[in-house]
Amino acid sequence: MSELATTYWSSIAGWSPVCFMALGYAFFALNRNAALKRVVWPFFLGAVCVYFLIRMALHGPIQILFVIGPILAFIFFVGLRAAVFCPSCGSTFRNMNLWGGAKLCPKCGANCGEDA
Ligand SMILES: [Zn+2]
Repeated sequence: MSELATTYWSSIAGWSPVCFMALGYAFFALNRNAALKRVVWPFFLGAVCVYFLIRMALHGPIQILFVIGPILAFIFFVGLRAAVFCPSCGSTFRNMNLWGGAKLCPKCGANCGEDA
C-alpha cells in the first residue's frame, strides 16, 4: 500500500470514532424524543466502551485489559444508571443518585424517576 493510502486509511480510522462520538453527543443534546434516546443510549455507550477496549488492546500490552476492562464496565454501568431522559420535555440530564430517588428535570421540573 502506498504511503498516501496508508495515511488516508489511518486518518479515516482515527477520525471516524471522533465523528461518531460528536454525532452521538449532538443527537443526545438536541433530540427531544426521550423514548428513542432511551433505546439508543445503551448501544451508543456500549459502542464507545468497546471502541476504547479495542483501542487499548491494539496499542498497549494485553495485560492493560485487566485494568481497563473493569473500569470501562464501571463507566458503562454508571452511564446507564445516571442518564435520565425527561419524558415531558425530552431533555437529557445526569442524576448521580444511582439507586432511585426523585429525578427532577432541571428544565421543566417533571419527575423522571422510575415511579414517574
Ligand atoms: Zn423536562
